[in-house]
Amino acid sequence: MENVGKDIDRAAKDLILGNLVVFPTETVYGLGANALNEKAVKSIFKAKNRPKDNPLIVHVSSIEMAEKIVTNISEIERKLMNMFWPGPLSIILTKNDIIPDAVTCGLNTVSVRMPDNKLALELIQKANIPIAAPSANKSGKPSGTNIEDIYDELKEDVAYFLDDGRSKIGIESTVVKVNEDGKIVILRPGKITVEDLEKISKVEVDKNCFREVKKEDIALSPGMKHRHYAPNAKCTLLSANDKKKMIEKINDIIINSSENIAFMVMEDIIDSVNKKENVKVYNLGSTLDEVSKNIFNSLRKIDKDNIDICYIQAVEKKGIGLGIMNRIIRACEYNIVEV
Ligand code: AMP
Ligand code: MG
Repeated sequence: MENVGKDIDRAAKDLILGNLVVFPTETVYGLGANALNEKAVKSIFKAKNRPKDNPLIVHVSSIEMAEKIVTNISEIERKLMNMFWPGPLSIILTKNDIIPDAVTCGLNTVSVRMPDNKLALELIQKANIPIAAPSANKSGKPSGTNIEDIYDELKEDVAYFLDDGRSKIGIESTVVKVNEDGKIVILRPGKITVEDLEKISKVEVDKNCFREVKKEDIALSPGMKHRHYAPNAKCTLLSANDKKKMIEKINDIIINSSENIAFMVMEDIIDSVNKKENVKVYNLGSTLDEVSKNIFNSLRKIDKDNIDICYIQAVEKKGIGLGIMNRIIRACEYNIVEV
C-alpha cells in the first residue's frame, strides 16, 4: 500500500495534476478531484460507477473560496456558513460559470461545504482549489469510513489515499437548501440536526428522505433516487416500540432460521440475543453517535462474513437518529418489519 499515508504535499500535487485522491473528512472519506477540472471530475463518476445524474459536493477551506464558486448568497445561507462551517453541513447554492456542468450534472446549483478535518482543510489550502467529492465507495455500496474498507474497491483509479484513521461522525453531511421565503429544507439528514438548524430559521425535512423515490419521479436532490448503502446481504429493518418485543422477535427469527443470519443491534440488547451457530451479532454501540460512527463499517462487515440475511434494529428518529434511519432504510431497500 505504497500510495496510502499522510503526505499532504503528494495528495495536493495529485489533485493539481487532475488525479483522484481519497481524503478524510469528519463525516466519511471523500473521493476527490479538482472541482474546476471537468475531465478530473468525470473520472470520479467512472471510478465509482456513479449515475450521471447524481451531483457532487464541492469542498472548500474557507467562506472566501465558496464565494468564488457561487453567486447570490442569502442572509440565511450566510448565517448557516458562519454557524456550522467548518462542519457537516452541505448547502445548495447557485453556481457560477467556474464550476463545470460535470460537477452539478447540469443543475444551476452546487452543493458546498467546508469539512471539519485538519488534513482535509490543509489539503484544500495547499492545492488551493475546491475539491469535488462524493463518498469514497463504489456507487450503491456503504460509504467508506476507513481506508481498509475501501482500498481494494478503489485502488485501480486512485492516485493517493490520505489516511486519518476512522471517520469521527460516520454518516455523510446534512444537505440543505434554503427556499426564497427563508425556510431551510433538509434534503439529507445528518449530524447537523433539525434542532440545530432551527436556531437560524424554520426547518422542513423533505418527505423523500424516508420514502422510496422512483426513477421517473422528480426529486429535489437527485441522490434520493438511487440505490444506496446496500451490502450484498439482504437487509431488513426491525422496528419495535418496546425493547422486550424486539428481543422476542429476534429470538423468534433465530429459532426459525437455517441460513447465515445476522443482527445489528444496540449494545443493551446484545446479551439477550440467543446464541446459535448460524447467527452473528454486531454491536452498533450504546449511543446514537456511536451508531452513526459504526453503521457503514458494520454494513461492510456483513459481506465479509458471508451473511445471507441481516436484521437491523431501528433507532429513534431524533437528533442524528434521523440521519441514521435515512441510511438504514435505504440499506434495507425499504424492507421494514414492524413488531
Ligand atoms: P455523496 O457525495 O455521495 O454523499 O452525495 C452527495 C449528495 O448531495 C447526493 O445525495 C446529491 O444528490 C446531493 N447533491 C449534490 N449537489 C446537489 C444539488 N445541486 N442539488 C441537490 N442535491 C445535490
Ligand atoms: Mg455517497
